[in-house]
Amino acid sequence: MNRKRVIILGSTGSIGTQALDVVRALPDRLEVVGLAAAGSHLDLLERQVREFRPAALAVADPAAAQEMQRRLAGEDLGVFGGAEGLERLAAWPEGDLVLTALVGAAGLSPTLAAIRAGKDIALANKETLVAAGDLVTREARAQGVRLLPVDSEHSALFQCLQGAPAGSLRRLIVTASGGPFRGWTREQLAGAGREQALRHPRWNMGPKVTVDSATLMNKGLEVIEAHWLFDVPVDNIDVVVHPQSAIHSLVEFQDGSMLAQIGPTDMRLPIQYALTYPERPANPFPRLDLVAMGAFTFEQPDREAFPCLKYATQAVTIGGTMPAVVNAANEVAVGAFLDGGLDFLGIPRTIERIMAAHDPVPATALEAVLQADAWARSRARELLGR
Ligand code: MG
Repeated sequence: MNRKRVIILGSTGSIGTQALDVVRALPDRLEVVGLAAAGSHLDLLERQVREFRPAALAVADPAAAQEMQRRLAGEDLGVFGGAEGLERLAAWPEGDLVLTALVGAAGLSPTLAAIRAGKDIALANKETLVAAGDLVTREARAQGVRLLPVDSEHSALFQCLQGAPAGSLRRLIVTASGGPFRGWTREQLAGAGREQALRHPRWNMGPKVTVDSATLMNKGLEVIEAHWLFDVPVDNIDVVVHPQSAIHSLVEFQDGSMLAQIGPTDMRLPIQYALTYPERPANPFPRLDLVAMGAFTFEQPDREAFPCLKYATQAVTIGGTMPAVVNAANEVAVGAFLDGGLDFLGIPRTIERIMAAHDPVPATALEAVLQADAWARSRARELLGR
């Protein structure tokens, strides 16, 4: 069997390192031909290059790229720097599939470069679909490439929809763990600190995503992504809190039947499904023990205490550049919160104010999306005095 040749953008992050675990577990299925990272974990990146022996490496930070060039001088591989370096790697001719796991808006242009080069995409960068869903899904259709979701919820929906006839779907039901502040009131949330927000009850993820799941913005962004990935109107996408995080999402069909995807809370499963789709090879990862789990429960999300969820769905209803603006404002606000420069409720407050100040335009060209993104960032920084 031919091994799938994988390019990993964001190899030193949470998704990237877990993707490499999957490659390690399935050596006869998968092979790494390219790695890329932002440039903040060079020792780890160097170890990854020496272990997986990719043909090419890209580092977004140009100084870090030079440093890697120096460290890997004796090795037979190309090292590229800067944003163009990431795009060049994403379009690397030897790759069959590109896993896009860079955090933030930096993931957008390399993802488009990979699509235009005809690569299937394992999509782990939320911003790609949130900010530029219209553009990216149109390009993917035009190029005939697959967008394979990596996020656990979208992977679940994608798995449940395999073989579903056109017109049979009634709604998507995205599950949410509720995050560390499930059940908290607005008054309690006003005093929520950084350490508490970073203590996620179920998932082990990077800090940005962990804060997003504390505000429920993560779920809001996932609703936007689901809308673009599955071409379902946002009114037909529901969110339900499921604290055990074993049901990763569900679909309801026109006949009233529901299908759910259930599994352990281990990101390596949805990553593997995207990398080996449509195959399901055996792996050594932990299994879910249903009896030990005991019960599955469900609750309505609290959209008043956690308004980010509401803002995200409003943004996609308004359309155009509004989702890109919400995403960018959120990124700046979460950064400020993580630095100790903003209180927890300051995150939704900032987003609401930036949304109110934005006049959306159609998001059909990358320039419009990037412009809206840059505008929202500078506006949010200004607002937060940063
Ligand atoms: Mg998720």
